Amino acid sequence: MRRPLIAGNWKMNLDLARGRELIAEIRAGLDTGGVRDQVEVAVCPPAVYLFPLGEALKGSPIRLGAQDLHHETSGAFTGEVSAEMLAETGAKYVIIGHSERRHTIGHLEDDRMVNLKARAARRAGLTPILCLGETLGERNARQTLDVLTFQLTAGLVGTKLRDSSDLVIAYEPVWAIGTGQNATPQQAQEAHAHLRARLHTLAGIVADDIRILYGGSVKPENAGEIMMQPDVDGGLIGGASLKADSFVGIVRAALAKVG
Ligand code: PEP
Repeated sequence: MRRPLIAGNWKMNLDLARGRELIAEIRAGLDTGGVRDQVEVAVCPPAVYLFPLGEALKGSPIRLGAQDLHHETSGAFTGEVSAEMLAETGAKYVIIGHSERRHTIGHLEDDRMVNLKARAARRAGLTPILCLGETLGERNARQTLDVLTFQLTAGLVGTKLRDSSDLVIAYEPVWAIGTGQNATPQQAQEAHAHLRARLHTLAGIVADDIRILYGGSVKPENAGEIMMQPDVDGGLIGGASLKADSFVGIVRAALAKVG
C-alpha cells in the first residue's frame, strides 16, 4: 500500500509570521484529527522561508519542501538556488516542472530543463515532485495521454529509480490549476493509471511504489472522491493549502482512503 502524500504548494504567498501561524494551525489540526503516520504531509513555502519554517516544523512529522531549484551545484547563476542549498535547509521534497514555471511566469521551462532539475534533486538527496499535465488545447485535441507519456519519459531520462523515495509524480492538468475547475475523479484515474503503466515500462516493478499525486483545484469538498481513485496517492495542493482547515480537510480525505 502506498502511503498518501498531501503536499501544500504555497507559491509566492504569506509572510513569515503568517507562515509560522499556518504551520502551528496545521500541526494542531493534524493532532486533533488523529492523523499520525498514515498520511504523509508536506509544506512547500517560498525559498527564503525554508530555514525558519524548518525550525517551526521541528518535532512534527510534517515535511519541508521547496518549489524549484537550479540544476547546477554552484556558479554564476544570479538569483538561483541549488539542490544542495535546499538540502541544507532540511527540505526533503522539491517541486519540479510546475505548470506555472513551464507556461505562465516567463521561465518557459522545457522538458530538458525539468529533467536536469529532477536529476540535480536526486543527486542532493531530495525527492523531486515531478509535475506533468496537459493544457486545455491538448485535452480537447485528445492528446492528454501522449503528452503525459512524453513528459514522463523526457523528465526521467538518465534516471534509475530504486524505491519510492526517488520520485513523486504530480499529475496537474494545466487547465485545472488555480481555476476552480478540477479534473473529474475518472479523468484523474485515467491519467494516473496511464502514468503508472508507462512508469512500469520505464522503471519496472518500482512503479508500484511510486506515488502519483493529483493537483488542480483540490478542496475538502472534492478531495474525497479524487483520493479514493486507486491510482491517486495524494495531492499537490495550491490555494487550499493556505488555510489550515481546508488543508487538514484534504489530509483527512486521504486518511479515509487508508485509515
Ligand atoms: C498547484 O499549484 O500545484 C495547484 C494544484 O494549485 P491549486 O490547488 O490552487 O489549483
